[in-house]
Order: sequence, then C-alpha cells, then structure tokens
Amino acid sequence: MLNETIAEHFSLLSKLMDIHGDNSFKSKSYANAAFQVDKLPQQLTEMNKKDWAGQRGIGANLATRIDELINTGRLALLDEYIAKTPEGVVEMLAIKGLGPKKINTVWKEMEIESIGELLYACNENRLILYKGFGEKTQNNVRDAILYMMSQQGKFLYQQAEHSIETYRKQLQDLFEKSLIGLTGEAARNEDVISQVDFIISQPEESITMAMQSLGHDPEKTEEGNLLFRMENAPPLVLHSCTADNAGTMQFLTTGPEVFTKYIEKKYSVSLTQTNYASEEVLFNSLNLPFIQPQHREIAVDENYYQKNVQKETANPSNIKGIIHSHSKWSDGGYTLEEMAAAAISKGFEYLVISDHSQAAGYAGGLRPEKIIQQHAEIDRLNEKFAPFKIFKSIECDILGSGQLDYDDEVLQSLDLVIASVHSSLKMSEQKAMQRLLTAIENPYTLILGHMTGRLLLSRAGYPVDHKKIIDACAANNVVIELNAHPRRLDMDWRWIPYALEKEVLISINPDAHSIDGFDDIKYGALAAQKALLPAANNLSSFSLGEFEEWLFDVRGMKGTLG
Ligand SMILES: [Zn+2]
Ligand SMILES: [Zn+2]
Repeated sequence: MLNETIAEHFSLLSKLMDIHGDNSFKSKSYANAAFQVDKLPQQLTEMNKKDWAGQRGIGANLATRIDELINTGRLALLDEYIAKTPEGVVEMLAIKGLGPKKINTVWKEMEIESIGELLYACNENRLILYKGFGEKTQNNVRDAILYMMSQQGKFLYQQAEHSIETYRKQLQDLFEKSLIGLTGEAARNEDVISQVDFIISQPEESITMAMQSLGHDPEKTEEGNLLFRMENAPPLVLHSCTADNAGTMQFLTTGPEVFTKYIEKKYSVSLTQTNYASEEVLFNSLNLPFIQPQHREIAVDENYYQKNVQKETANPSNIKGIIHSHSKWSDGGYTLEEMAAAAISKGFEYLVISDHSQAAGYAGGLRPEKIIQQHAEIDRLNEKFAPFKIFKSIECDILGSGQLDYDDEVLQSLDLVIASVHSSLKMSEQKAMQRLLTAIENPYTLILGHMTGRLLLSRAGYPVDHKKIIDACAANNVVIELNAHPRRLDMDWRWIPYALEKEVLISINPDAHSIDGFDDIKYGALAAQKALLPAANNLSSFSLGEFEEWLFDVRGMKGTLG
C-alpha cells in the first residue's frame, strides 16, 4: 500500500469525524497524519515498523492504525464512520467549496441527506438562512452540484430541451436536402433524457464527415449508431437511413419498445423487414390513425387511448389558475402582490397562494398569527385586483403522525389546504402509507401535494402503494397534484389513467417559488399529455367560476364550509 493511499484513508476519516462533529482533536491528528504521511520521502511499507512512530505527525496510536491498514487493507474505525453516515452525505465531500463543517450543518441542521436535495435547497434559497452560508457559498454549491450532475449522463427534459433545438438547427444546416427527424426519448418528451436521437437520410460516412467538420468525432453505440459526446449536454445519436426507409427507422427508433412490439404483435408485421418512406405511410398501411410519439407508451392501453385521444388535453393554453405557489411570507422570492400582479399579466384568472406551514421552520413556515396577517393582505389585494382572485391556502406539512400542522380553527380559516410531506422522508412503505392516508382522510385536505417526494435524478421517492392512495383520494374527494417542477413531476403520469378510472381530479401545479416558476406548468403539462389527461379532469384548467363552484361543493360534502 502506497503512502498516498494511507494518507487518503486518514484524510477521509478526519473529514467524517468533522461531519459528525466529533472530537476535533482526534480529527485534527488524523488530518495532520494524512498530510505528513503523504510528504514522507520513503514508503512506509519499505521502512522498519519500529521507525514509523518516530516520524513527524505519527504517534504510537497512528502506527497501530497504519499497521492495520497495511495488513488488512482496511481501517475498522473508518468503516464504522462510513457505516453510520448516509451515502449521500459522504458524497457531498466531492462538492467543491463544501467542507466537512458545512456538511455537518447541511446534514444535522438542514436535515438534507443527498446531493439532489441539497441542490433543491439551493434553488429554494434555503442555505443562506444558516450560519456560515452566504449567497456566494450557495451559488458555488449549486454550480458545483450542477456540474457533477451533468457528468452523470442523464438530464432532466428541461435541461435537455435547449440542446434538442440546437442540434436540430445544426443538422438542418449540415444536411439541407435530407430528411431529418427527432426520434427516441426526446421525441417522446420523457421526463429524463439520456441521449438525443435523430434520423438522417444520408449514408453514415457523409454524416461522420459532416460532423467531423464541426469538430465532433463519432463513437459507436451498442446498436452500431453514431454517437457524439457533447460538453455539459446529452450526447447526440444519429441514425443513418435512406429516403425509402425513413418512416420505418423513425418508427422503430421512436419506440418505446413496448409500443413497437405491441404493434408488431397485434398486426403480425415485421417492421424491420418493410420499407416505409414515412411514419404516415406506415400507420396508413396498418389502417391506423397517426399516433403522436409522446402518446405511444399509453397507446398500448388501447381502450384508454381510444377514449381520450379525441379530447382536449390539459396544456398551458387552457390552464387558468396558478395552484400551489409560495411568496415572501414563507420561502418564495416575491411578495404576494408581485406574484398576483404577474399572474394577472400572464393571463391567469386566479392564484392559490400556499406558503409553508409552521413545522417547516427551515422554509419560514407560518405561525397562526402570521396566517391572520396574510389573510388581511389577501383581502386587500382581492379588492384591488378584482375580478382576479387570490385564494387563501397553505402547503400544510403532513406531520410524522399523519396529522396536519394546525388545529381545526386555523384550517377552517383557509379556502383550501394542500397537504405535503416535507420531513422524515426516509420511511418504510407502511409508515408512508399511514401518514398519507391519515392526511387524505382529514376533511380539510383538498389536494395531495407531490405524492412521493421524488426528485428526478437525485432522490427516489418514499415507497407508496399508488393504487391505495388513489382509492383513498377518490373516497375522500381529494385532488392529486401533478407537481410541475421539472425535477418532481410527481405524481408520475403513468398513474393518471388509474386516477381517472376512479374519477379523481388531477391538478397540474407549478409549486412556484418565483414568478418564473409559473412557467414550469409547461413541464407538468408535457408529462400529463403523455397520459392524455383531459383538461376537464385537470383542476388548474378550471375557470375561476368553475374553481369556486368546485371548492364550494367539495367543502360542503366534507362538512368544512363553516
Ligand atoms: Zn412542497
Ligand atoms: Zn410548495
């Protein structure tokens, strides 16, 4: 074992001790030992053991540890620390500008245990509330995390969006007279994109030469297609085809496989064997109307697809209200008045302001007396901005017990409650279900916020039984949010058909912490459209009048009208 490796072990041990806030004298001695060992002119393994302890920075205790390391290849004390530190917390050591002491604050005070959550907290401006974290640190941490993530080969749809258009323009310039078609994951508007695919009606050699003229050298994918790696963007994969088989290629590469297999089986065709010049020709030959790429996964559920494909789907142009938003009253970036004015100027008819509740201390959650003050402001603004309307809401924490975060008197004073889990996210399915079902059964809960707490590419959600939750929402007249933040998109769109079957309303909500956040509605809508969510089944597509009527009816049914 090299001195360098020994030093790395000691250095990591010292950092983990600091992360735990343990005896700083010991951690310093390991840090110092790491430094000295690394500098030694001779390898420890080549020295006489007895001489170790005499070296600068190495006492008898450290000599024993070195012996253990060299003999076993491990350090029991280090293993112990690794075992009692969440993996995501250890990973934070790789974030530039975030030392062990700061990680201690992130973990113990902010209760953040993964890099994805930390990024989310940066974006919500939450780090600056803690001692030792200024705006500069927060920005550095965010940039460092984004960089790390960009290296991992997967991108949120929102992160890939710009590249898709850039690639398309570049290809159009390079191959003016060829057929160029976006295909694959990007054509299907998947939540997460690992590569951007195009078909091009050009021989492979011409594609390679043209791309090389732009300085991009190709690699080959496992399937033998051309792959071009790009900096901080998804790789571009190009599929060579001819004008004769462009339709076949477009169809097969668009996928998903579950759909292409379903078509082949149902129509007993082998599509790889037949040349179609376009997808339209291909669908025609099967006597099928064209199926949009983003609908192909859901189209496998034939009855569902047939029933919904003709309906108007929820989309940004028919979404009439901002449901679920935060203002400066809790952790938002703008005043309530600024949020309302922006919503009006963007053509929305109403704004549901749902700041955090009191348990969410980290996010400036509102104490009951603050809620009274906020309501006075809402009354004043509603007079000023009529007929536009601000609704009094709260994003109410679902406590560990499943209870809501206020007593009934406070809950009664609100127009509607969005109930969400924000704390103790690490839990068994049984615990998660108990909390969620208790909250759903609370008569004040009208909307269930981000059902699983997932953060795409960063944090898996807590485990839930989707069907049981949807059943409970149906039984209790609770709407299920489709949180439109591109990193959440929670509830997953694949559960929309079951929710519709149970006549549960969905609501595409931006969870906006700023005015720009309103625009996230687009990503929620893209996800919802994959399930063909009809506008009529989306609460935020209700007009102001319809929304008020729904509110009156549902509260009447639940007996919370007062
Ligand atoms: Zn939330
Ligand atoms: Zn929220």
